[in-house]
Amino acid sequence: MNINKAHDGKEVIDTVCKACAYGDFDKLKAFVELDPGCTNIPDENGYYPLQWAALNNRLAETNFLIAQGVALNVTDGTGQTALHWAAVRGSLPVIETLLRSNADYEIKDNRGYTAIHVAAQYGQTSVLYHLALKWGVDMDQPDHDGRTPLHWAAYKGYADTIRLLLVLDSRYDVGDKEGCTPLHWAAIKGNGEACTVLLQGGSTSVLTSKDVTGLTPAQLALEKGHRYLGLHLAEFKKKQEGGGWFGKNGKLSWMVSTQLAPLIVFYVTTMVVIFLKKVMPAHSMGPILSFFSWSVVVTSALGFAFLYKTTTADPGFIPRGWDTYNSKRKDIDESSEEVDEESRIGGVVGGKGQHLLGHQHKALDSPALWAGNWNQLCVSCRIVRPLRAKHCSVTDRCIEVFDHFCPWVGNAIGKGNRHYFLALLWLNLYAAVASSIIGMIQIQRFVHADRLHPTTMVWLVSWLIINVFVALGLAGLSVAQASQVARNVTTNELANWHRYQYLQASDGRFHNPFNNDCTSNCLEACAPFTAPMAPVYMAKSSLGGRVSCKSNTFCRGCH
Ligand SMILES: [Zn+2]
Repeated sequence: MNINKAHDGKEVIDTVCKACAYGDFDKLKAFVELDPGCTNIPDENGYYPLQWAALNNRLAETNFLIAQGVALNVTDGTGQTALHWAAVRGSLPVIETLLRSNADYEIKDNRGYTAIHVAAQYGQTSVLYHLALKWGVDMDQPDHDGRTPLHWAAYKGYADTIRLLLVLDSRYDVGDKEGCTPLHWAAIKGNGEACTVLLQGGSTSVLTSKDVTGLTPAQLALEKGHRYLGLHLAEFKKKQEGGGWFGKNGKLSWMVSTQLAPLIVFYVTTMVVIFLKKVMPAHSMGPILSFFSWSVVVTSALGFAFLYKTTTADPGFIPRGWDTYNSKRKDIDESSEEVDEESRIGGVVGGKGQHLLGHQHKALDSPALWAGNWNQLCVSCRIVRPLRAKHCSVTDRCIEVFDHFCPWVGNAIGKGNRHYFLALLWLNLYAAVASSIIGMIQIQRFVHADRLHPTTMVWLVSWLIINVFVALGLAGLSVAQASQVARNVTTNELANWHRYQYLQASDGRFHNPFNNDCTSNCLEACAPFTAPMAPVYMAKSSLGGRVSCKSNTFCRGCH
């Protein structure tokens, strides 16, 4: 395949293969007029004109060759067809043309590779997506060594390809003839990101699997000199087994599950009781001070109500994709005849594989994926997540408009409970600030009343110091949240904006396409019920969002 490398601008196009490789349509036509049979003759290396056109995404030449009646499934010396070659560079228009002309995507080369293995070897995620969604190709086909496209993507370290294959429900627990699962191969090659994605997608179950030499993925990584990765995998294994004090079997695991919400209840109750028992009675209060004192008690009580709502409300969990999918798939495995044929989906023009089920097919048929935004795939939940959503590692769920996980309330803060959280924050800020001011006034009056009582004084001063510190902390958090609400941006987006394409302007600087006028922003965050927002999967170009299209020239999402 070195014809391109030899091309220095002065290449003489003297064969049909070169005309196809360089896209010289006039030369191709001239060759065919001279010898109509030349389109089926390979070059000196045994490669056919259709392969060269397919490799270089020459659509006009491909169509012309097909019209001339070339053999679509002819193979070279390695057993590869034009479809294999088209997969190398992700030539989607040519792939679609070949398939519509009845090219066979199930042909295996001498090593057992079909086009999907080649696409995985070269990280052509769009090709795999196209073949799965439009042609229903089964992504679990093994080559002659028992390796599926997921093995190859893991071996080569293509994280996006792994994401797609996992969401397409490729098997991550199947060993090849050497007993290696995709995680074993990612560990052998030291592909850290690939290992992370595989573990997020369920490969934790193979952490203890051994290959034919008796080694686990962690041991293989260490043996190949990837020390950090090996230790990381070993540590991950320990966590899965619930080791350590805070592990799922540890002595303090209850603290992880209940988080710190009970501590807040205890703290606020204690502070309010001291306020009622020590601060308020320290000196007689006038009606205004009395009014504000009782307002502190009322806002603290209201705070409990909002704490309860923040903790128990659904923060915006996005339904997982794999629950229903796996159960349906199991049904099919057990009794394929009983499954309603309409629930199976083949390709748009009649694919053979019919791998994806109807609802899964529909869920994955997303403009975000046709545009190549693979980072919107969540391998843990097996879904395409909307913009602004993130997978929360604590709750292990994807959450719409994710802000942060708050250990103080024991819940993630997202689209569904951010308004409760803001109310909780601001009510407690008011209570802390107002009670601190009242406390200072009462202490001053208490001192001047000439009836100093040392024990009461210690209570009052200790209470005030703690209260002022908490008020300062709450003030900082409140200012940060208020500023984010006014700009319609989340804590996660501010911290990780460089990871999200939709938050970057064309010059790479921060740009928030969701930032409208301040009133709309505040209404959306503080009173979402007044203006419910549907999940957004693609940033509109009119809003300034930059969505890069990685699917080469053929992209449904951009049309
Ligand atoms: Zn998720």
